[in-house]
Amino acid sequence: MKRDALVFYSPVDDPTAWRDALASELPDLDFRIDPDVGDPAEINYALAWLPPKGFFRRFSNLKLLTNLGAGVDALLNRDDLVPVPITRLSDPGMVSLMTSYVIFAVTRYARDMHIFERAKRRGQWHYVHPRPLAEIKVCVLGLGELGAHAAKSLADMGYDVRGWSRTLKTIPGVECHAGRGSLETLLGDCEIFVSMLPATNDTQALLGARELALMPAGAKFINVSRSAVVDEAALVAALRSGAIGEATLDVFGAEPLPPEHPYWALDNVFITPHLASITVPALAVRDVAESIRRVRRGEPPLHQVDPQRGY
Ligand code: NDP
Repeated sequence: MKRDALVFYSPVDDPTAWRDALASELPDLDFRIDPDVGDPAEINYALAWLPPKGFFRRFSNLKLLTNLGAGVDALLNRDDLVPVPITRLSDPGMVSLMTSYVIFAVTRYARDMHIFERAKRRGQWHYVHPRPLAEIKVCVLGLGELGAHAAKSLADMGYDVRGWSRTLKTIPGVECHAGRGSLETLLGDCEIFVSMLPATNDTQALLGARELALMPAGAKFINVSRSAVVDEAALVAALRSGAIGEATLDVFGAEPLPPEHPYWALDNVFITPHLASITVPALAVRDVAESIRRVRRGEPPLHQVDPQRGY
């Protein structure tokens, strides 16, 4: 009898956690971990994060591809995939982890912690009078599942939050803007910027030398989405000159970040190794299983990505 099998691939996620979580939802699903895929013709579903080039070429009967994360850029524009619906994960665990990172990164600057970290290294008691959060304008670029929650949480804490997206959003406490026409004003008006934009054809190098120069001198820049939205060379130059005062970066053009990359030598760059958020299998598995059930019934899956839009 032909099996109904799923292939799992991820360089970072634990396959056994996913196998156990999915077994509780779909006991009849045959869960296979790459490279032990058995007969590739039996693979109907893929659960994958950063699969290498050519990975999908074997799977001609694929019916659903679930990205083990929110950012789907590595799955689009591939030449090894039959046309199948692509879905992304959307789980409350990922949202709260991301929000905790953004609150930390924004607050580290807003409460001058980066200054105290340096003062401690110099062995110096260095007083900086705290500013009220309501005076600190934070701009969240991208108000999707992750960005909207982070923006609202910052507003709830008392920051003066502006948000930017492609289509206009309504988020309590957040002054929302949409479209390219409003970007320049926002860049000139805020002091801490958080990129939560996906990497798409439209957002590629959206923040170049010109846009970075529009930010106030000494602005803080936090990137938790994709490095492609920023011109890395322009950012390095702006950080060197002090035009951009500080950056917190979780995502890079090359990961792991090569030892020779200029970011390592810049004292005003805080680096984390692409872990602002992760998926929590126990919380994400319901939607993954529900999408498989829907595809089995011939219905569209949950959280389907629009390949034309790129997210
Ligand atoms: P969504 O797809 O839910 O939202 C994307 C947001 O960006 C939307 O608000 C969208 O606008 C906006 N946007 C897209 N294109 C444009 C554009 N051209 N101009 C203006 N706004 C635009 O994404 P998530 O919130 O779930 O995640 C955001 C990104 O975070 C992911 O794409 C991924 O790259 C990254 N990520 C990083 C992680 C990490 O650990 N560092 C973990 C998880 C995700 P609109 O609402 O109008 O459609």
